[in-house]
Amino acid sequence: MKKLGVVIVAGGSGTRMGADVPKQFLRIGGEVILAVTLRKFLPYASEVVVVLPSEQRERWEEIVRECHLEGTHKVCNGGVTRFHSVRNGVEALDDCDLIAVHDGVRPLLSDEMIERGVECASVHGSAVPTVAAVDSFRVLREGRLEIIDRALLRAVQTPQIFDASVLRRAYEAVYDERFTDDASVVEMLGTELHYYEGERGNIKITTPEDLAFAEQRVMSN
Ligand code: C5P
Repeated sequence: MKKLGVVIVAGGSGTRMGADVPKQFLRIGGEVILAVTLRKFLPYASEVVVVLPSEQRERWEEIVRECHLEGTHKVCNGGVTRFHSVRNGVEALDDCDLIAVHDGVRPLLSDEMIERGVECASVHGSAVPTVAAVDSFRVLREGRLEIIDRALLRAVQTPQIFDASVLRRAYEAVYDERFTDDASVVEMLGTELHYYEGERGNIKITTPEDLAFAEQRVMSN
């Protein structure tokens, strides 16, 4: 069994939700989203680092006590972008073989999805989850919205899992605006990526509608 280090990023301010607390601290099924996400990974991880805005660490400590999650993980400070937050998290991890990076606001993934990702990364050195597009899409070109074949599109999710040495080397890069996820950082090294099947339900809770969907999912489980 390879040792899996997990970085859960929750270093953003999450302002799109319009709530006065960052979205990772809202509740679904009575528990804070970030605590639900953390619990999902504990059975698989040799170590977990949760990345938080420095001003939210005290609030998180209270939640950890309330949810009896003491001693299950380390905490480190977020950075100005997701890239900088992940880099802080990766640096805080001790020795491991694989590193998974997961958005703190994606609490709805299944155990099977984590297992698929770990298996894919163990065999191939990288594992990036995608799902096929179901909506119709148009692309903005020179002021016009043009049709685009949705069969060509995939939505990319987390957890993205990599050989620890590859991810650590990738995150030595200088920040580039094109880095929207970990796969884009690793790809800059010239490393070939391997993909696994994500889940439509593994949404990144972003809007009040997403929160209502997540609440419903948790309550029906
Ligand atoms: O902003 P976006 O929805 O893309 O954020 C995805 C994830 O990255 C969230 O879990 C968010 O908390 C995290 N993030 C971070 N540090 C930042 C910005 C975003 O850890 N500076």
